[in-house]
Amino acid sequence: MKVTLLGTGTSQGVPVIGCTCKVCRSVDYRDKRLRVSVHLQVVDKSIIIDSGPDFREQVLRERIKSLDALVFTHEHKDHTAGLDDIRAFNFMQQRDMPLYGEERVLNQLKQEFGYIFSGINYPGIPQVQLHPITNEPFEVEGVLFTPIQVMHYRLPVFGYRIGDFSYVTDANYISEEEKEKIRGSRVIVLDALRIEKHISHFSLQEAVELLEELQPERAYLTHISHLMGLHREVEQQLPEFIRLGYDGLQIEL
Ligand SMILES: [Zn+2]
Ligand SMILES: [Zn+2]
Ligand SMILES: [Zn+2]
Repeated sequence: MKVTLLGTGTSQGVPVIGCTCKVCRSVDYRDKRLRVSVHLQVVDKSIIIDSGPDFREQVLRERIKSLDALVFTHEHKDHTAGLDDIRAFNFMQQRDMPLYGEERVLNQLKQEFGYIFSGINYPGIPQVQLHPITNEPFEVEGVLFTPIQVMHYRLPVFGYRIGDFSYVTDANYISEEEKEKIRGSRVIVLDALRIEKHISHFSLQEAVELLEELQPERAYLTHISHLMGLHREVEQQLPEFIRLGYDGLQIEL
């Protein structure tokens, strides 16, 4: 399996519009963070988790030429806003795009992208096929996904485990039961928003503590805000097995 971090930034992205802090002015490419998303290439299957507002740019940058399915973690706009751009894959592949998500998430997509679901098949609109999921393992084109239900303040959202890889982007609490699903992963991608505590995301210290408990071989932090600091400086303070993610990072496992 090859994992590519398509975006590692929080909802506003980094740099933040109008901000002149040292992170937003940094010339280090690792300080430029599009909204979170990840691409999984599992044998011949190409799957993306979340289609945020930067979906088009991310797919172009990584030269992703086919897409078999989109899986959603939750309905927040930074994870869904780019859905319209799956049209390119509809044209190329001549098939509906399977979308996987909880019923609540799919219902929100129906509201926000009403034209896709209106029943009026206007030529050129995205063609989708909805697959509601629950907190039970499910298959996407033969690839097994195990949902990990995490708390994003009061909203239960999903992270996913696929083989030895676990991906959790919007959480500030994970129950012992759900942690069990992550345990044994060789690679974990986990959210760490900034140094200070936050209402719906892990802080840097909270993420580090959780990863030390879960003990993967390697871990990468994601959903990072400009308030985290410079990539180069923050990384120096981390245990060796934990790195900050950055856009375009590829992980083979
Ligand atoms: Zn800034
Ligand atoms: Zn969110
Ligand atoms: Zn988010």
